[in-house]
Amino acid sequence: MKGVTRCPALGEFGLIERYFRRPVRRAALGGGDDCALLRPRAGYELAVSSDMLVAGRHFFDDVDPFRLGHKALAVNLSDLAACGAQPLAFTLAIALPEAREAWLAPLADGIAALADATDCDWIGGDTTKGPLNLCVTVFGDIPLAEGCSQALLRSGARAGDTVYVSGTLGDARLALEALQGKRELPAQVLRWARDRLEMPPPRGLGRGIAWRCDCGHRSERRIGRRSGPHPGGIGVGAVIDVDAVAARVGIRTVFPEWVQPLLQWREWALSGGDDYELLFTAPPACAASVTQAAAVAQTPVFPIGRIEAEPGVRWVDSDGRAVLHHHDSYDHFA
Ligand code: ADP
Ligand code: MG
Repeated sequence: MKGVTRCPALGEFGLIERYFRRPVRRAALGGGDDCALLRPRAGYELAVSSDMLVAGRHFFDDVDPFRLGHKALAVNLSDLAACGAQPLAFTLAIALPEAREAWLAPLADGIAALADATDCDWIGGDTTKGPLNLCVTVFGDIPLAEGCSQALLRSGARAGDTVYVSGTLGDARLALEALQGKRELPAQVLRWARDRLEMPPPRGLGRGIAWRCDCGHRSERRIGRRSGPHPGGIGVGAVIDVDAVAARVGIRTVFPEWVQPLLQWREWALSGGDDYELLFTAPPACAASVTQAAAVAQTPVFPIGRIEAEPGVRWVDSDGRAVLHHHDSYDHFA
């Protein structure tokens, strides 16, 4: 942590008052009491998700505090977007080794800036001393359609659906490796990639898709496991074009002169992690609606594959030839 001005006079409650208490616009009651109050709109479902960021595991100790604040909320908003939920409010549970003004103020600003931009009220939380750790819980809402849920679930994929991904992939991984000293990047490439790692933009697309068609989303493996004819059943599978995925590495288009082997682009894009993009499926009949929703949300989306009845993921190159790729999502305890 940088900065020298401690704020001992503030104490826990002073600190909360000064940095973590914000006026609310959509909640019925914000921070300050034992509970905050949300008043769900009639005809809506409430969507809830938590994500924790731990120093040394999810971010470097010397990360810019404004960016850390942004990311702590952004990764949670990404889960709401993935479900097709509109952000409503969030709480922040935070453990701080010490209360330093020069660090706390920009942290709170980073959180509040994204909260304001997405119309998401900061309604409370918890603050304790301890190893640096931020846990945000977000609340969002999803309109019911004639009493039926419109949430985009991992179980929503159907054979024949097109698989889409939003935005760019793999750049965050590139930045991570550079910051870990594992690779050297030209300065402007690092700056660009680092923005992707530290400032993932909110994707408002999930809501747009949910309104227009009935479709699922998210990681191929998970879709495969969860989607199927029977609840908890065998599941569907997917064919994924690894070259279409590799083409999504942002650096490739932003800095075309920075040439890398194809295998490297594929690896970063397929297994890099920390991208906070949306992966979803929609039937081919919805293709025009997906394009329209993407345009409205100003979020580019790209087809990368197809859902099939046969379980498992089959990786192919742009010519349709089978490609060997071992895909595993990150497991903290593996
Ligand atoms: P408790 O004794 O139940 O832990 P606190 O005294 O910690 O409650 O919290 C007092 C008020 O300050 C509560 O309304 C709580 O929501 C709010 N608060 C505490 N920490 C945070 C935080 N990190 N962000 C926003 N509000 C917070
Ligand atoms: Mg407390």
